[in-house]
Amino acid sequence: MVICRGVFQKILDFIYPPICPLCGTDVSTHGELCADCWTAINWIDGPKCHRCGYPFIGYDFDDKEMLCPVCAAGKNELDWIRSACVYDDASKQVMLPFKHCGKIKYARFMANAMIWALRDIELQNIDIVMPVPLAWRRLFHRGYNQATLLARPIAHALGVKMDYDSVHRKYREDMGHKTSAQRAQNIRGVFKVVHPNKIRGKHILLVDDVMTSGATFNELYRVLMRAGAASVCGVSFCRVVHGV
Ligand SMILES: [Zn+2]
Ligand SMILES: [Zn+2]
Repeated sequence: MVICRGVFQKILDFIYPPICPLCGTDVSTHGELCADCWTAINWIDGPKCHRCGYPFIGYDFDDKEMLCPVCAAGKNELDWIRSACVYDDASKQVMLPFKHCGKIKYARFMANAMIWALRDIELQNIDIVMPVPLAWRRLFHRGYNQATLLARPIAHALGVKMDYDSVHRKYREDMGHKTSAQRAQNIRGVFKVVHPNKIRGKHILLVDDVMTSGATFNELYRVLMRAGAASVCGVSFCRVVHGV
């Protein structure tokens, strides 16, 4: 069976040679970026808040107990959060076409990068991988939930189920260009657990494409914990970092 799969992959590679999804250069494996595209992205691989993963850019210490001001003030509700890279001009070249222009082929390397971002986390107790829900109206216009495209390969890698229908989201206007307080206000009450039996007692990993203020993750945390979840943590492809 393994041999068959290897032969099948070789045939597939011959018909569809692996190329960098961003620039089209030849690469060795499907879903990989070429070296130039990889180095252009600001990966979070240095010191960071051990709870929410916020990168301490420009610091050379690596204190595993260090918290960012948001976590130190108790404003982050999730057990932990990790993100693969910083939201900046380079990652926007990935994010914007992926989210708004149907470049769903980017999902593979983005999910791989998010799995890499979880390298310092004990993942054995995760029961469910849950993409941040999209309102029906937005899903209808876009045609896909970008978070679901990322959550599916992550759930597969972790060997757990993806849950994309236990929580519904109401439509609200776009949150771009709003302050953290406005975002928190805007997101309040948008999520509703419709299948609490699938949530009760579960350790849940939330998946989103970008983390801005953390308001979405925090609101989902509150809704899921009220429905009886055992714990909630999160992973995003990129995150907004102040001053970048
Ligand atoms: Zn490339
Ligand atoms: Zn933090």
